[in-house]
Amino acid sequence: MTSFNWNNIFLNNYGTPAIELVAGEGVIVKDSQGNIYLDFLSGIAVNSLGHAHPVIIEAVSDQIRKLSHTSNFYANEPSIKLAEKLIAITNFDAKVFFCNSGTEANEAAIKLSRRTGKKKLIAAHNSFHGRTMGSLSITGQSAKQKPFEPLIGDVRFIEINTKSGVRKIKRKSAAVFLESIQGEGGVTPCNDEFLQSVRSKTIKTKTLLVMDEVQTGLGRTGNWFGYEKSGIKPDVITLAKGLGGGLPMGAMLVTGDAKELFEPGQHGSTFGGNPVVASAALATLNFIEKEDLLNNASNMGQLLIKLITQIEGVTEVRGRGLLLGVGLKDVMAKDVELECRKLGLLLNAVNENTLRLAPALIVNIDQVKRCAEIIDDAIRNVKNGLKK
Ligand SMILES: *Cc1c(COP(=O)(O)O)cnc(C)c1O
Repeated sequence: MTSFNWNNIFLNNYGTPAIELVAGEGVIVKDSQGNIYLDFLSGIAVNSLGHAHPVIIEAVSDQIRKLSHTSNFYANEPSIKLAEKLIAITNFDAKVFFCNSGTEANEAAIKLSRRTGKKKLIAAHNSFHGRTMGSLSITGQSAKQKPFEPLIGDVRFIEINTKSGVRKIKRKSAAVFLESIQGEGGVTPCNDEFLQSVRSKTIKTKTLLVMDEVQTGLGRTGNWFGYEKSGIKPDVITLAKGLGGGLPMGAMLVTGDAKELFEPGQHGSTFGGNPVVASAALATLNFIEKEDLLNNASNMGQLLIKLITQIEGVTEVRGRGLLLGVGLKDVMAKDVELECRKLGLLLNAVNENTLRLAPALIVNIDQVKRCAEIIDDAIRNVKNGLKK
């Protein structure tokens, strides 16, 4: 283990990590003590092709030998090809802006919405859109917002899956931000009826519908985008996490009239569309397509739901594909997370009674079965420990 005193060198914004990871291959990851784990968190829904995937290694190595950075003063081939690929998978006429993270993608969408001439924003209670001041302003969690007020004003929070929520979208609303499945908020899906009503209302009020697909996008739910299941078409899609296949990249895709809202000089990013990162993203998307990983995500997700629903102490499994929230009868998610880790499984307690699973899209049947066994054992161990 690298000898370190976390609190001496890092700011106090994260908890102190219990283990240090040193290597990985596929869904397996190894720590500095030589312990190996099944990685069902994937760096928070990031490593879509698992660790050290050959197609990513090759894409990145080839590109970095040729050209590692250009800035947006000059075009580069990987970012052009990636933009074309993203437009192709949305299945509608879109244009692309590249950035480096989820919060930046949402920040871009907030700025874009100002160009409509309207200022009021709508977002959901319990949502998560990022940590920078704009994205934090539309993040419906007061514990995250309070220490940083004042935030940008004019944000109204609605309850997802309610009619009263839809009614709060008005002509004065510039944009509505939603996650098709709230990830950080506890893996809580928006239902089809709600998303469809929001879409009709936003069309009527000329309000931009921004789907934050940072966590749910690019195959994780078994579709390219989580909103597809509801049959809607948003105006704006924000992406990051899984996009770069483990490298930092974000994007905003815009369709319809909103495509023309930005003028030259109004937004930008030095690293946006960086060719090394773009080549990793392109390799990731091509591999997902070639190997039909959307289908694998869907099938493995269904198997996980089936196996985990049967476990004693589990009340429900929410979500779709490979973004699942395991609801526990008791408030013990953190303890179960720790016990799973001892038993060789990485996942995370997304709230006090929900475990989040987000394995790589390449996960296989044996790994899924093993994950369910470990969760079963971990819950039993924690309960027995509590009885003692
Ligand atoms: C993680 C996340 C973000 C923020 O992404 P960062 O890359 O951490 O800035 C935004 N929206 C959603 C839905 C997320 O899950």
